[in-house]
Amino acid sequence: MEYRSTRGDGTIHGFASTLLAGLAPDGGLFVPDRIDPLEESTLSGFVGADYATVARDLISLFAAPDIEPATVADSVERALGNFTHPAIAPHRQLDQDRWLLELFHGPTLAFKDYALQFVGELVERQLAREGRHATVICATSGDTGAAAAAAFAGRENISVVVLHPAGRVSEVQRRQMTTLTHDNVANFAIDGDFDDCQAMVKALFVDPAAAPLNLTAVNSINWARITCQVAYYAWSSLRLGGGGPVNYIVPTGNFGNILAADVARRLGFPVGRLVLSSNDNDVLPRFFETGRMERRETRQTISPSMDIQVSSNFERALWFASEGDTAAVAEWQRALTEDRAFSVDAATLGRLRERFSAARCTEAEALEEMARTWRETGEMICPHSATAAHAARTLDLDGPVVVAATAHPAKFPDAVRQATGHEPPRPELLEAVMEAPERYREHPADASALRELLLRENRADRSENYQ
Ligand SMILES: *Cc1c(COP(=O)(O)O)cnc(C)c1O
Repeated sequence: MEYRSTRGDGTIHGFASTLLAGLAPDGGLFVPDRIDPLEESTLSGFVGADYATVARDLISLFAAPDIEPATVADSVERALGNFTHPAIAPHRQLDQDRWLLELFHGPTLAFKDYALQFVGELVERQLAREGRHATVICATSGDTGAAAAAAFAGRENISVVVLHPAGRVSEVQRRQMTTLTHDNVANFAIDGDFDDCQAMVKALFVDPAAAPLNLTAVNSINWARITCQVAYYAWSSLRLGGGGPVNYIVPTGNFGNILAADVARRLGFPVGRLVLSSNDNDVLPRFFETGRMERRETRQTISPSMDIQVSSNFERALWFASEGDTAAVAEWQRALTEDRAFSVDAATLGRLRERFSAARCTEAEALEEMARTWRETGEMICPHSATAAHAARTLDLDGPVVVAATAHPAKFPDAVRQATGHEPPRPELLEAVMEAPERYREHPADASALRELLLRENRADRSENYQ
């Protein structure tokens, strides 16, 4: 497939450049030229297929012709080899019509692994092929950083820099990033919130002085990550739908996960209604009510991976909904950065509402939902998944309703304990993480200061290589 920017600089890019560049040259996001529905026969060929087959074929579709199917297949196989459940993304039935889709069976226990394990493989291969070094930089509200650090630790030709908002990620999340012992991983606790971290990454990307770092973004704005996530919606909808549409409720922050569900639907998989759930940071529900996107102060909640006021991938949804009006998208994004708000026209809002609904869930409702799910089904769910479970129970949707369970409850033991009175069982792979020493540096929310620091260390690294 070919990719262009949502903001209209017009240049055409292959999958490999979307993989390594992350962001389009004009600051926009890469979008495929078009997404056509698959042939009936292709879709029916997926019925009953295992996860690896669906993932391999769908990723190949987006990665061609840049990346050969054999390379995709090999990378998928290696990536999925690091998952602990044989079904990769198993369903668990909650009641007659509601299921959990468990997206936490990867190395860091959140759905980010489903894309990043694969992206880690592919980026390493691509850099080796191009004979260059790159710095993977990522801002994290908790789970992306852990998943990226795990995916890139110890890989050739890659340094990983992870920025997390100091004191605003859970202890387990922080420890998963900071206890890695590989020299190519650098963690920074930024004095600010997630949006500050994300703004620093974006600033470094457009900063010519940062060019020697060869920055690569693996935030959820990276298109390759979205393509990997399409796989579990495609696979799940065929498993559960029996031909009819399956509704998904997705705990949402940066809008990457739910966008992948929309892509699966565009490809013709039986995906029904898509509902995003949010916590007290309800910027998206407010947008769906009014057509006005307005950033407010980020509130700290028990679901930190959704404590976001700037939902980066929403830019792609706006591009689709405005039918590729790149000038409008560029203007909305400018206004969001400079004026902290924008409003869309009625036609764009109408098209967005046809595809998505939004539900909010307060802190108290999330805790109550965790308690109720535990009481009624014996399942412990994480506080993010709880926002979606709450919507699943309170909304009136026809057909099966699937709650995307985006993280393992053991990543958020305090919230689980508060809600259920019980300690979530700790998976074996967290034991070492809770014991090991941590390595991270504190840093102000200042992109140019970080650039200078990284450049100094980058040079030091390189000169060591020449000794
Ligand atoms: C990242 C994350 C989310 C938000 O997903 P987006 O793709 O950013 O919308 C929700 N829940 C958990 C547990 C996460 O790690």
